[in-house]
Amino acid sequence: MAKLKACRDCHYLTNETQCPNCKSTSLSTSYTGIVVILPGRSPKDDPRKTSYIAERLNIDKPGKYALKVR
Ligand SMILES: [Zn+2]
Repeated sequence: MAKLKACRDCHYLTNETQCPNCKSTSLSTSYTGIVVILPGRSPKDDPRKTSYIAERLNIDKPGKYALKVR
C-alpha cells in the first residue's frame, strides 16, 4: 500500500498533493490510526447520523481518514 498523506484540515487520506475533499494543500505524512467511513444506504446519508466516529471526527463524506494528524 502506498503511503498516504493525511489532510490537516479534514483528516482525509490521499495520494495526491491536494486534498480532494476540502482542496487544502496542507497534507501530513505523520498521522496515527486510519478510519474508514463506509457509505450509507443512500449516498446522501450523513455518516454523522449513524456513526459515532464520523460524528466525533465531524466527517460528512464516506472515505478514508486519519485518526490523528500531527
Ligand atoms: Zn481536507
